[in-house]
Amino acid sequence: MSILQRVKLAIARRRLSSQRIAFGSDKALEVWEENKVRNEFKRSPELRKAIGRDELGTIGRRDMREYQLHKFRQQMAYVMENSYYYKHKFEAAGIRPEDIRTWDDLQKVPITEPADLAAEPFTFLCVSQSKVMRVFSTSGTTGTRKRLFYTQNDVLNIVDSIAAALKTVGMTDKDTLQIMFPAVAAWDPGLMLDGACKVAGMRSVVSSTADVDEQIRTMKDNGTTMMIGLTSFLYRVTILAKGRYDLRSFGMKAIICSAEPLSEAMRREMISSWGCPVLAQYGMTEMGLATSIECDQYDGLHLNDADFLVECVDPETGKHVGDRQPGELIFTSLSMEGSPLIRYRSYDLSCAIEPPCGCGFRTVGKIGKVQGRLDAQTKIGYGQKIYPLLFDEAILPVPGVISYTLQLEREGFRDRLTFTVEHEGDPAPVKEKVLEALNALDEISSAIENDLISPPEVVLIPAGSVEFSPKSKTIIDKRPNYDAAQK
Ligand SMILES: [Zn+2]
Repeated sequence: MSILQRVKLAIARRRLSSQRIAFGSDKALEVWEENKVRNEFKRSPELRKAIGRDELGTIGRRDMREYQLHKFRQQMAYVMENSYYYKHKFEAAGIRPEDIRTWDDLQKVPITEPADLAAEPFTFLCVSQSKVMRVFSTSGTTGTRKRLFYTQNDVLNIVDSIAAALKTVGMTDKDTLQIMFPAVAAWDPGLMLDGACKVAGMRSVVSSTADVDEQIRTMKDNGTTMMIGLTSFLYRVTILAKGRYDLRSFGMKAIICSAEPLSEAMRREMISSWGCPVLAQYGMTEMGLATSIECDQYDGLHLNDADFLVECVDPETGKHVGDRQPGELIFTSLSMEGSPLIRYRSYDLSCAIEPPCGCGFRTVGKIGKVQGRLDAQTKIGYGQKIYPLLFDEAILPVPGVISYTLQLEREGFRDRLTFTVEHEGDPAPVKEKVLEALNALDEISSAIENDLISPPEVVLIPAGSVEFSPKSKTIIDKRPNYDAAQK
């Protein structure tokens, strides 16, 4: 490292508030978020007025909400001043920042569609191009790629929040985090994670190979004690390595599954193989990748409420739904400078969960585990909604199964479901058990009974006969005139 780089690193470290939180604090993320509220309280008479106290003292959930609404108003004013898109959108809607006083008022603000961002990314840009430190592209699972602009402050803040989150799940300066996102080319979560570890004085190793043995070798060479990566890939490594290596001897402290939904079947398998907690992480490129992380209660993911305002709405009406009620997540970035987004549709289905949490968090909210994407939802038979997670829970617990894809076709008036299952070992029992598990699903059995689908077919392929790729397209729909694509 050059002297200049070292100086920069030292400056970055001093600016990061996660640095002031000790290793071993299981409340690191909440403390980090509360510090942001305290700083803003000191700085802003408006927030003091909204909260209605001169001394902040202990921060409660209501104070966090007031802080979020205060930041929402600020951010709204900022984008109306600086972004072409929002100036026109909000003026046309006749809405002003001061109109937003309560949580319900948020529903007056128009939604931002991902398609708008994809079509004209520069109309969202709020700073001069010389201030843009990084441009991220989304992985484009749903069509056109979107571009997001981050300033130096944005990048440092994201890195800071990741460092706080890693401390929360038990990472210390004695640990090594292995970062495993093979075949993810369009965006780079590894870069932010690696950066977070560096500035926080923690060790990390980026290992992007799809080769399982090489991943295991990297773990041994680096003394890896924590893993983060693509959910389907971490699962794959577990299934393929568990027969050949004593995975429990690695002394893994935590495994963090990212970028794809984590089924309970996958979680159980990984916990029993490695002997450590397996946690879900969720984020979007549009929000700087890191918005939430699960705690050891396995009952939802803690949000970074200081930087994101998250609402859960009924996708059909756009109205807020209650605590733990299923709906679509809508995000607002409260601190972003480059291309902040206001009430941005995620198309991800989950729920909002109010604190407190069994882990001890009191002020920070949670979202439920993401169940799938609204546009990955499809219908079979009568119009019964199916998601990849439904089949994950059924098929993945079958011994020997590594991954699968589902192809949907139309045969006369019936739907035909063909599951291509990648497996290890003797094929005959795998096929039998997969069929058994599928036929046990209500969604399948009732559709067969009513003669709306043909009995599902299972095609087995041996492990490694296809190249690993991220599982964003588990269900491939080839039916003609198919109208269930939402949007
Ligand atoms: Zn918790």
